[in-house]
Amino acid sequence: MTARTLIACGELFDGISGRAVPDQTLVLYGDTIDWVGPTAQAPTAQPGDTRIDHSTRFVMPGMVDCHAHISYGNALTQEDIDLYATMEFRTLRSMVAAQAILKSGFTSIMDPACSGLIAPAVRDAINVGLVQGPRITASGRALTTQQGLYDWYPSWVGVPEPSTGVLTGSMDEAIRIIRQQAKDGVDAIKLTMDGIHARRNGGGLIAAYTQAETHAMVDEIHRLGKLAVVHARGREGALYAARAGVDVIFHASNICDDGIQAALDHGTYLCPSLALLVNNIEFHEPTDASAPWWPDIQRRELEAASRNLQRARAAGVRFLSGSESGFAVTPHGEWGAKELEAHVRHVGFTPAEAICCATVESTKLLRERDKLGGLVKGKLADMVVVDGDPLADITVLQRREAIHAVLLGGKPVDLTPAPTHARHFSEFSQAMWSRVYDRAYVASHLSSKAADAARRQPA
Ligand SMILES: [Zn+2]
Repeated sequence: MTARTLIACGELFDGISGRAVPDQTLVLYGDTIDWVGPTAQAPTAQPGDTRIDHSTRFVMPGMVDCHAHISYGNALTQEDIDLYATMEFRTLRSMVAAQAILKSGFTSIMDPACSGLIAPAVRDAINVGLVQGPRITASGRALTTQQGLYDWYPSWVGVPEPSTGVLTGSMDEAIRIIRQQAKDGVDAIKLTMDGIHARRNGGGLIAAYTQAETHAMVDEIHRLGKLAVVHARGREGALYAARAGVDVIFHASNICDDGIQAALDHGTYLCPSLALLVNNIEFHEPTDASAPWWPDIQRRELEAASRNLQRARAAGVRFLSGSESGFAVTPHGEWGAKELEAHVRHVGFTPAEAICCATVESTKLLRERDKLGGLVKGKLADMVVVDGDPLADITVLQRREAIHAVLLGGKPVDLTPAPTHARHFSEFSQAMWSRVYDRAYVASHLSSKAADAARRQPA
């Protein structure tokens, strides 16, 4: 007979009711919650049962990061993501990335876009018990066009095979790739809806696919039983995607009223992924290659996103929570919970609403959606035990020392931080300098010693 685990909780936040209830007990049977109620009325422990005392702590469901790119390697450059590392190395670092995310209190993730089939492979390795990691809902390479994200390199280079994007030269080709990805076991298929060119007079980005093409691809993805998920910061891409009935629009920063209505009509979720924008604004340094232009673009987008997403929310559109981890400014396991703070600061969520969104609501599209969904009877026992009150201060979830315990299907997760190595993840970039050292720069900016050294070099 499977033994039970009785967990006394100081405050229990089930992720559904939106409030914390004091002095509750959870009884787990195997990996599942079997009983929840006041500690005073809890079943008594039998021989063989385990009792855990969190009676001074805040217990909530495990968080979900619906936008984590585990194969990206905390990249400094696009080339880091696409070019230099072998697929084998990327797979190994993805495993470490997934574990870092789990250790920070996220028991499930969605990975929309990876190299090859890395995310589905890591998902499967975790699911058969080879290694511990979060529950993963995985996609493969994101479909794009010559007008879209992921086709970064010159046309004479194209989109190399190990890229996280895959070029669709025609609709026949797009449908073939969709069918292949479905065959290869992805859960979700990602479409790149933003183009790279903007319409004149502030008309925003031109979508990478036409409305008819978007419909054709989404219909085929849904026919094959997969999730259709899209990247769309621009108005037009978000509108086409919502009209085609996609399941998730990532970013949706410039979604218009027609897009909001279409999202409502089709039950499309929006996943703002604001932590990346916020970090790009807060963390930029003058020495960053992108410093002269990038933070301002991010600031403008954050303003637009805040405005438009609040309108979408007021209209009744549903939200997922995802931080877009995987870049150098959003390293895995570091800033995931900052997305909850961003939902509070920029989209008007209360802390309780942000936690409900990042826990129960964000399970709605996952592979395990029928078994997950809050700390209630019959659901998997994925939970976070917090030293502190995230309802009073949502940022407490970002503090490693406040994450007292993480349980995945009732099993404690080892919270020992994964070792970090300076060149662990971005080992392969060929970039060597961040500026051109012409004589004018050297004369005006470098110390006299460095300038002397430079002058001594042969011309
Ligand atoms: Zn992304």
